[in-house]
Amino acid sequence: MNYQPQPLTQRYFYCPLCGGALKYQQYDERLRLTCQQCGYILYENPIVGVAAIVFNEAGELLLGRRKGGKYHGLWCIPCGYLEYDEDVYEGTKREFREETNLTIEIIRVFTVQSNFHDPERHTVGIWFLAKVIKGTPRAGDDLDLVEYFPLDKIPELAFPTDHVVIEMLRRERSASGESNLHPDRIPTTT
Ligand SMILES: [Zn+2]
Repeated sequence: MNYQPQPLTQRYFYCPLCGGALKYQQYDERLRLTCQQCGYILYENPIVGVAAIVFNEAGELLLGRRKGGKYHGLWCIPCGYLEYDEDVYEGTKREFREETNLTIEIIRVFTVQSNFHDPERHTVGIWFLAKVIKGTPRAGDDLDLVEYFPLDKIPELAFPTDHVVIEMLRRERSASGESNLHPDRIPTTT
């Protein structure tokens, strides 16, 4: 994906330690927000986002429709942010359960991508292949509808990286003739 060049737009203005003013200062390799009072450096790192790719028996992909916010009415592969103290696999299962009412088993990482579409919040997204082990789809949390879609009939998506990921899924599926993405045919790694 495209690298976002510096300088970054300043998002934080006060030191979290002492309340002093934060300003960008040049260090060896880049600008960093530095407290003018105590010298604290506020490192700006991407947040980890997690998403789970789930297909039904017909090989259709589960998507959720977002409610509220700037992506209202647009669809996405069910996703969320990892909590600071949360294991990445557990966090993925939790987010998926909150948004779709489905309990999943993680099979493997499908892809990892940088998300730069929101300048206020860069993330690293991890898309897992997963399969449903319990529950019926019901929208919750940030979603108001969940539905399965064939890969060639995907509705309007909220996030550019979901486009990339779905294109990868299409390629993988067509390369493997039938479907190696079907839950029963995904090799489980331990
Ligand atoms: Zn400070």
